Amino acid sequence: MVMSMELVKEVLSVSKYIFERNLVLGKAGNVSGRVREDGEDLIAITPTLKSLNKLKQGDIVLTNIDGDILTDGVPSSELQMHLDIYKEREDINGIVHTHSPYATGFSFSNSHLKRLEGFGKIKSEYINEIPYKVPGSDELAKYASIALKYEDVLILKNHGIISVGPNIEEAADLSEFVEGIAKTQFVSAILNHLV
Ligand SMILES: [Zn+2]
Repeated sequence: MVMSMELVKEVLSVSKYIFERNLVLGKAGNVSGRVREDGEDLIAITPTLKSLNKLKQGDIVLTNIDGDILTDGVPSSELQMHLDIYKEREDINGIVHTHSPYATGFSFSNSHLKRLEGFGKIKSEYINEIPYKVPGSDELAKYASIALKYEDVLILKNHGIISVGPNIEEAADLSEFVEGIAKTQFVSAILNHLV
């Protein structure tokens, strides 16, 4: 129980952080973390239809890896996507899904988001994308979890981005970094047209 309380606190602090950094707006976005307690995966996830800025401890929903809800409240509509990603990635314990404005702008355009310097090992020129799938659908969960098998960040076309990490804070750092890349790429594209 001690570990799950720590996890809930981390979900709350990261949720507030990404809201304050304008990576999520309104009631959009969701955050989850995983701990192993008594040999079982325990997931803490943000609730549906609440601003990530105003969450309290009791708002965070705990589930097992099969999605059985262990506390009060209704989890994010993207719970299945989070669960499928955890099943595919034993090495990650944090997931952050945002609609951060610049990166999401790329997702709604025909421009691809480049991996700029600072991204670690460059695997390919552009950040991977998956085609549009209805938010909250099993199809989105399936596509996203498969695409994230060998990547830590993914563009969801016409929707937003999702990032994963060894813990929730690192997943959030990656979301913030990708939003920064999107801004830089946007600014440089505009300047190249002006001068
Ligand atoms: Zn979304």
